Amino acid sequence: PTDLNALLDEFVRLSYHGLRAKKKSFNSDFKLDLDPQLQKASVVASDIGRVILNLVNNAFYAVDVKAKSAPDSNRAEGFKPMVIISSKRIENRVEISVKDNGNGIPDSVKDKIFQPFFTTKPAGSGTGLGLSLSYDIVKAHGGHIEVNSTEGLGSEFTITLPI
Ligand code: ADP
Ligand code: MG
Repeated sequence: PTDLNALLDEFVRLSYHGLRAKKKSFNSDFKLDLDPQLQKASVVASDIGRVILNLVNNAFYAVDVKAKSAPDSNRAEGFKPMVIISSKRIENRVEISVKDNGNGIPDSVKDKIFQPFFTTKPAGSGTGLGLSLSYDIVKAHGGHIEVNSTEGLGSEFTITLPI
């Protein structure tokens, strides 16, 4: 039995502070919106932790790219890089969501992102394995993972797991 809220808190901070230490210019903010009613769930904590880390790393990367790509128009539009991580109990399931206001995922790319080795990142920045591995881990737990994304506005990845 794993306290998923504690796991979320731990891995989000790990990702955030890792990026801050590595990149001086990284200035995204994040928000944890955790359901206090969440019960412990039977999961392989190290595997679900890895899924969380993959999703959160991708989200911080996406907002960082947006922040750097068009600083002037971003400023004009009042863009603030932000990642929101939430948990929510729904009946006997838990829904974990990682939402960013980065550049989103083009439709032409959306159905490829869960394939192993698919990446749009420059050589050396991404292996293209994060989402494919996350997909397999979530499936092995009897759950599912889905993405909602609007090009230019951001993405939301949602994992549903049985409690
Ligand atoms: P990697 O991060 O190594 O590229 P992933 O499997 O984690 O591999 O992601 C595959 C691709 O999915 C990324 O290269 C990117 O194109 C897209 N992607 C994933 N998460 C996001 C996100 N939050 N915003 C925009 N694109 C994303
Ligand atoms: Mg990744």
